[in-house]
Amino acid sequence: MKNDKKVLIIYTGGTIGMKNTREGYAPVSGYLLGELNKIEDLNRADMPQWDFIEFDTLLDSSNVSAKEWNGIAKTIVDNYSAYDGFVILHGTDTMAYTASALSFILQGLGKPVILTGSQIPLCEVRSDARDNLITSLIIASDRVVGEVCLYFGGKLLRGNRATKTSADKLVAFDSPNFPHLAEVGITVKYNNIALPAHQGTPTYNPFVTVPIGVLKVFPGMQFGLFESIITEKLNGVVLETFGAGNIPNGGDDLLPIINKAFKAGAVVTVCSQCVAGSVTLGAYETSSALKKAGAVSGKDMTTESAVAKLYHLFSMGYTTDEIKVLMEQSIVGELTE
Ligand code: ASP
Repeated sequence: MKNDKKVLIIYTGGTIGMKNTREGYAPVSGYLLGELNKIEDLNRADMPQWDFIEFDTLLDSSNVSAKEWNGIAKTIVDNYSAYDGFVILHGTDTMAYTASALSFILQGLGKPVILTGSQIPLCEVRSDARDNLITSLIIASDRVVGEVCLYFGGKLLRGNRATKTSADKLVAFDSPNFPHLAEVGITVKYNNIALPAHQGTPTYNPFVTVPIGVLKVFPGMQFGLFESIITEKLNGVVLETFGAGNIPNGGDDLLPIINKAFKAGAVVTVCSQCVAGSVTLGAYETSSALKKAGAVSGKDMTTESAVAKLYHLFSMGYTTDEIKVLMEQSIVGELTE
């Protein structure tokens, strides 16, 4: 039966579309569309119809920044009414950051926005690109989910809960703190936990470039070395702490620095180095002082999501006090309250 659904594929770069060149795998303009046109299954009558937009500069996703996030979101908004859903082809390395960022930039979605890519380029025999792309197209045309998702290796994940868990496995992503939105086997089994789909056009809230940093705590860390960065240069800091939000609290102390950072208008958000579980400030002596010094809890947010959320809140022009409150509340399903 003919499928009348329409999906827009937005190609930004990444391994999925790379060609084996003399210098190694590299994205080449115009190459991927030619390869997709050769895949008969992608062009069957019962598959959704698709159009293809390629970014002018194809990127290894390590080079993605707020500019590209805004560009992807703008492309979706500009084409929103013409399609049932959107598939973004993206490198895997920063795909979880992009998924988190898009969930804040594009709010009030009523159609699926699915990020995918592959660990092995489409041009290779054992590539995972074909299944990731075909299944993403089907999910994007289904219109069951109305939010930014990441599809990879048989799992449909909430975008702002996803994290890359493997550099080489074909099942490379997971969302340890949130159930999968769908499991894909013989059929696509949706779990009915997606955000409610909205009517009308989503809002487009682009990011501005905000000085944000991520600091990972380690045993024996000399916090003093980072003082000027935290207090003078950054508006937002994501502090990756041990376990449920703990830091070393003897000797070279972080707390006065955090106090100073707040006085200078910075927001320090505490996330965990553990992939699963939540920060609970105050559960241990080594974390309650963080709270007293003015840090906020990132709860069970991924670092990727905390970074994107800081970009979002500063870009929206909220005050530091407002941002401190909003960081601990769910805006687009990024944390469990
Ligand atoms: N370095 C590549 C990228 O993120 C890796 C990939 O796509 O899998 O663009």
